[in-house]
Amino acid sequence: MRSRYLGFTLIELLVVIAIIAILSAALMPAFSAANDRARITECKAHLTTIALALKMRLDDKGAYPATLRQLYDEGYITDEAVLRCSKTGVEYYYSPPARGEGAQAVVCACCDPQTPAGQRPHGFRGSLILLQAGGGIRDKSD
Ligand SMILES: [Zn+2]
Repeated sequence: MRSRYLGFTLIELLVVIAIIAILSAALMPAFSAANDRARITECKAHLTTIALALKMRLDDKGAYPATLRQLYDEGYITDEAVLRCSKTGVEYYYSPPARGEGAQAVVCACCDPQTPAGQRPHGFRGSLILLQAGGGIRDKSD
């Protein structure tokens, strides 16, 4: 005699759980890549904010600050988190350009620009993000 109960059997439930597990395992790398792209975008936004703050300070005081923290201490940046790479949490490399250095001089970057390509924070493409003296931001990959 057949049961009149129309619910799920244990086997059906296990099959559904297995399908969900397989699909989520297949989508995980896509989520991780999207997360990485978001952090790179956030890192660029931080450097844009720093560029504007440096420009404002340069207009006000006629000189670059000795450290990036000075921008926060003097109120040019209101969020301390902007001074760190959103992926690694490490403070940005900063080297104020000397007088006469061109707009190509690196002022600020995700990490020391001398870091080998494989060890850079946004390393899945071997890139680092640079803020230059002229205010330009570029992705460097080699
Ligand atoms: Zn970064």
